[in-house]
Parts: sequence; structure tokens; C-alpha cells
Amino acid sequence: MRAKWLALLAATTVVTFSPAMAQDRQPTRAALPARTGVWTYSGTGTVNTYWVETPGGGLVVIDVQRDLIHAAQALAAVKAVGKPVRAILVTHAHPDHYTGLGLFRQAFPGVPVYASKATAEAIRNDTYGANAGEQAEAPEVTPREFVAPGITFDGDTTLQIDGLTIVARELGAGEAPATTAYYLPSTRELFPGDAILNRLHGPLREAHTGDWLGVLDRLEAMYPNVAVVHPGHGASGPKEPMFDDERLYLRTCRAIAAEEIVRGGFTDAAKAATVRRINARFPYTNPTGIKDIVSDSVDGLFWEFSRPSSAPLP
Ligand SMILES: [Zn+2]
Repeated sequence: MRAKWLALLAATTVVTFSPAMAQDRQPTRAALPARTGVWTYSGTGTVNTYWVETPGGGLVVIDVQRDLIHAAQALAAVKAVGKPVRAILVTHAHPDHYTGLGLFRQAFPGVPVYASKATAEAIRNDTYGANAGEQAEAPEVTPREFVAPGITFDGDTTLQIDGLTIVARELGAGEAPATTAYYLPSTRELFPGDAILNRLHGPLREAHTGDWLGVLDRLEAMYPNVAVVHPGHGASGPKEPMFDDERLYLRTCRAIAAEEIVRGGFTDAAKAATVRRINARFPYTNPTGIKDIVSDSVDGLFWEFSRPSSAPLP
């Protein structure tokens, strides 16, 4: 199994950069038969920026960081590849994935930015208050004006960018109100946004964990031959155990919340017990900007479970 994964890695040459490595690795990177690269950073609040080399000699960038500092570092890593960016794709309307759009557009004037209609509108209209929230909480690293994706698509579409075929599929609500998965048929690489967080805490605040599990099933059914999954946060790797790990996380958090609700009702004591048990069961890193992600998630789970299953969720 390990040998198989190493072979996959060799075939796709996924390169993980730390900020320091982004500069250090530049001279050797040109010699590698690289196709896909990733920039991320360790510790709390990580998020991946990916770039994919196109047959036409350019790059397609997927997601562009949470603040101006990290966006600038990701941009430096992308520039270090030495190829022009032909397009930027956004997976979903959480600010850790689109805040750097302005910086990237400045560096590559006129570069088209793609997203689903739902995602683009949420960014443009600040539907969920994320832009205003970031500006209030961290004004020194947040742009005054957010750039929204200019090219939008409904549901499913196939993009042809500089010779690269990219299948975009809208997944609907789950980790976010809407998420688009991007798939490269030529190399069987899947970019599912934050529908997959590789062994990290997931934000369950949006009260869509049931839908999220459905998204995982759909992705698995739609892309049975995926060779490499590039998650929104965490390391890239083969589909399994990544999909099973995400399902286990969601199902276990749901089961713990349900047990504590049965025991104590929809009470603060039941919430506290749920938080304790989830933290004990999953000693994971918090990859988001949410201060206490497990508490925040448990609020979401309790909200989700307090609704009739047929009622629309927020
Ligand atoms: Zn994220």
C-alpha cells in the first residue's frame, strides 16, 4: 500500500512548500517534472493554495489564502515556478480560500477568476458577513475591497484552460453553504475544497453535517478512479483512508452529540460534555481561523439536531 502511494506521489510530484521552502526550493523545482504544487503553512489556520501546470505552459491556481500576508507568501511560491497564471479557481466562499484574490489579480492583471455562481455571489455580496468580519477582526491583513470571481458557472461544467481539462461540479451545502469540486481527468486528481480536511478538525458550524456526508458519498460515486485527493486543508494523498477518515470524523462527532443530547437534552452541560469527548477522541489541529473550533462546531451540531430533519437548515 505504501509502495503504491509512493508511486502515485512520483507520478504527480506533489510538492509541499513551507514559506521558507518556497524560496529555498526554487532552483531545484525547475528540474522536476512537476505538475501540481501546493503552498501551505503549519500550525493553526492552515489552508492550501494549489497550482497546476497546464499543457500550454501556464498555471491554474486553486484557492488563494486567508489574509494578505499568507496570500503574498503563496503568490511568491506561485511566481517561483516561473510560469504565467492562466486562471484562478475558487472552491468555496470561506474567506481563507478567496481573500488573496486581489493580490493575485494585481500580480497577474486580467487573469480570469472562476467560481460557481453561488460562491461568487456569496463573496461579492458578503452574504455570510465573512468579509466584514475579517475586516473588523484583522484589518491590517485584510483587503479593504474584496475581489469576487468574474467568471461563474451553474452546477456542472467542464473548463478548458490553456489545454487543461477541468471538470467542475457543484456539491451544494456541507462544510460551506456551497462548494465546487474540481477534477482533472488527465491525472485523476481531485480538488474537493473543504469537503475533505485531511485529519484536521472540520468546522461543523454550518449545521450541514448530514449533507456533508452525502457530499462525500457523491464524490466517491462520481469519481471512483481518483488517484490523488488535494484537500482544502492538510496533506494530499490517495482517496483512502482520506474519505473514510472524514466520514469517521463526521459520524463520530454526530454520534457523540446525539448521545449527549439523549442524556442531557439541548443544554449547555450536554454541549460541554460533547466538546470534551470530541477533543479527547480527535486530538486534531484546528485548520481554521475559528478560535475554539470544537465548541463552535458543537453549537452547529446541536442546532442541526434540534431541527426537524425535513426543515431547511440555515
Ligand atoms: Zn478552509
